[in-house]
Amino acid sequence: MKKRILLLAGGQSGEHEVSLSSARSVLNALPRDQFDVTPVAISKQGRWLPPTETRQALESGAAVSGGDLVLHRVASAEGYDAVFPLLHGPMGEDGTIQGLLTLAGIPFVGSGVLGSAVSMDKVMTKQVLASAGIPQVEWRLAVRREWHGDPESVRARAAELGYPLFVKPANLGSSVGISKVRGPEELDAALTLAFGLDRRVILEAMTAHKPRELEVGVLGNDAPIASPVGELRFASEFYDYETKYTEGRAEVHIPAPIPTEVAERVREGALQAFRALDCAGLARVDFFYVEETGELLLNEVNTMPGFTQTSMYPKLFEASGLGYSELVTRLVELALDER
Ligand code: ATP
Ligand code: MG
Ligand code: MG
Ligand code: MG
Repeated sequence: MKKRILLLAGGQSGEHEVSLSSARSVLNALPRDQFDVTPVAISKQGRWLPPTETRQALESGAAVSGGDLVLHRVASAEGYDAVFPLLHGPMGEDGTIQGLLTLAGIPFVGSGVLGSAVSMDKVMTKQVLASAGIPQVEWRLAVRREWHGDPESVRARAAELGYPLFVKPANLGSSVGISKVRGPEELDAALTLAFGLDRRVILEAMTAHKPRELEVGVLGNDAPIASPVGELRFASEFYDYETKYTEGRAEVHIPAPIPTEVAERVREGALQAFRALDCAGLARVDFFYVEETGELLLNEVNTMPGFTQTSMYPKLFEASGLGYSELVTRLVELALDER
């Protein structure tokens, strides 16, 4: 019997369009002889589109509109063997959808409520990973109310870290709302941007030297494996939205040209983080490697990484011999497996 899969795409976050392209690739790659896939796109307003309209939306690639209220559709999700919530960012990668599916009793691809929620929030991630002894950059938290009520206290936290520093919404992805702040004169604009997108904002120190950026994939439930390590190279100031999604702006090197010992530390660190955060299914773990000092700092964990044919996560596993179709099939199997 074919497995019935509900593929969720789009969603309410700033990564709506990225999710649509990932979903288009997955829809085409799930083997038809094993799976009966129904795609449902979620609009930026949080409404769920019927499958025929979804297919049209996936083809057009434009943002989705219209659709029903969530609960109508979840009720009709009964009868599916598994859900593939290919959603990035808040209301998708952060435990909310995962909670809904858990309540509905439908197995799904990826981390559960806890792993999704903690990994989505950069502050919670840092706290959990610090307690697991994983090295990271120095950071400070600020909440919107403080920024509005006592901006000097937030500026003082930035001064403690020194410049340049990074300002990020705590719960987002694809570099949306992230700024590199070169000095105090650029700080307020960066905070205003980040607080426009999130109630919680993280300020992060930068390493003394410009770090190299390494990424690694993790696959599995309670016995996860790590992929080969990849490196990203680009000419821009940092790996911002434009660099990520404009053809030709970034080069991907797999395997990363780094000493074997460093690659081993990356893979070990990623597996340790995956376990500490209670992740499941998949995650892409991003690191900073400071060549001058040998320092390796864990940047963040993405529980539903970009998933087009050319995205880093599937390419990393492809390098270890696991093709795209086999990878998505494996992910559905992991969703149906006992952890
Ligand atoms: P993703 O699309 O991977 O989910 P994201 O929006 O969660 O991205 P980060 O990975 O935290 O954002 O940061 C995006 C990029 O900003 C990094 O890849 C890096 O280029 C730069 N960056 C972020 N934080 C730092 C830091 N503390 N020091 C140096 N560079 C940083
Ligand atoms: Mg991220
Ligand atoms: Mg992400
Ligand atoms: Mg990242």
